Amino acid sequence: MSSLTVRVVVSKEVAPGERRVALTPEVVGRLGSSGIELVVEAGAGEAAGFPDADYEKAGASVVAPGSGIGRAEVLAAVGLPELGGLRSGQVVVGLLQPLLRPETMQELAARGVVAVSLDGLPRTLPRAQAMDALSSQANVAGYKAVLVATEHFARYLPLLITAAGTSKPAEVLVLGAGVAGLQAIGTARRLGAVVRAYDVRPAAAEEVRSLGAQYLELTSVGPATGEGGYARALGAEEAAAQRAELAGHIARHDIVITTAQVPGRRPPELVSAEAVAAMKPGAVLVDLGASELGGNVAGSVPAQVVRTPGGVTIVGASDLPSRLATSASSAYARNLSALLAHLVTDGELHLDLDDEITAGVVVTHAGEVVHPATAALLGQPDRPEDTP
Ligand code: NAD
Repeated sequence: MSSLTVRVVVSKEVAPGERRVALTPEVVGRLGSSGIELVVEAGAGEAAGFPDADYEKAGASVVAPGSGIGRAEVLAAVGLPELGGLRSGQVVVGLLQPLLRPETMQELAARGVVAVSLDGLPRTLPRAQAMDALSSQANVAGYKAVLVATEHFARYLPLLITAAGTSKPAEVLVLGAGVAGLQAIGTARRLGAVVRAYDVRPAAAEEVRSLGAQYLELTSVGPATGEGGYARALGAEEAAAQRAELAGHIARHDIVITTAQVPGRRPPELVSAEAVAAMKPGAVLVDLGASELGGNVAGSVPAQVVRTPGGVTIVGASDLPSRLATSASSAYARNLSALLAHLVTDGELHLDLDDEITAGVVVTHAGEVVHPATAALLGQPDRPEDTP
């Protein structure tokens, strides 16, 4: 039995408004049996509902804020930490979105930092499923999207027959039926709404129907399955035809939840300004794709709520996992600890780039950007995320 350990440090997330924490007290014991010693900066888990005392009770050491990172072999994070605090030889693990920020990855490589990102996990590999943080966080977002919609929607969702009369069920449309969309469908159905959903991948139809929702067929766009079971980006004409046909469906729904994503690209715009204007007063749009680059809904602003002159509410829902921080952190911590257990053997970190999981997640190594999809974006004048 080796006495070596890898020191993993968790500090408070730096992104404004981020409440999640990368590792929770629940996983400390499991990390220990993988040869990992956990150091937590005081207050790191507070906003997610995990006080310092719970980490200590579980066997982690708690140190003063700011004093852990310097001693870290591995920094466990949710989002990208401040680069200034990192030094050569350290490993940073998180959801770093390398395809959206290849230059930052290059900077990490130049600093000698090893960047490991859960975004690149080969998700369909059965042995990688316990590490699938994209799915766990999308599940949280899909569930919370419905609850957020109900906060802004002034009517009941279910059919209600009472002495005071009958209220019709709300009609909910979910655009994009991947992990988040399917969770939103299930949640809206459980609340009694009539749910319809649409996706460009034909495989989604069966999954939508199995949840008791109706599948919306569009005639203007053909199937658009791309690499790895994901959607491919539509061409400009296809996208315009899709927006135009969707507009008629959007207008008759009370709540529209959009979850469409194409890996490494800005989210496709599915709901045009005209479609928003044609919605009924009181209707609610929840845009999970809302980002600085633009979202699925014209006029959505990340982490903000916009009321249109026509009385429609647009929620820029870029922060949903953070708004359900305890559940999101618990799931993320299990994903991350499964990945750490994969990378650490006998108390030492081994980055075997011949292993499919490791090769998928390691973005920078030995001063280079080694992740092919990220490296391919460097120096490209016409970057995919800039194209709608
Ligand atoms: P995602 O977050 O990349 O995208 C969300 C959804 O948006 C997808 O369903 C995509 O098809 C859809 N979309 C993209 N462009 C669109 C457009 N123009 N119009 C309408 N919809 C559009 O995807 P995801 O939720 O992470 O999952 C994508 C696929 O991967 C799904 O098939 C999912 O079941 C599969 N998956 C498999 C595993 C596994 O095998 N363990 C794990 C996770 C995901």
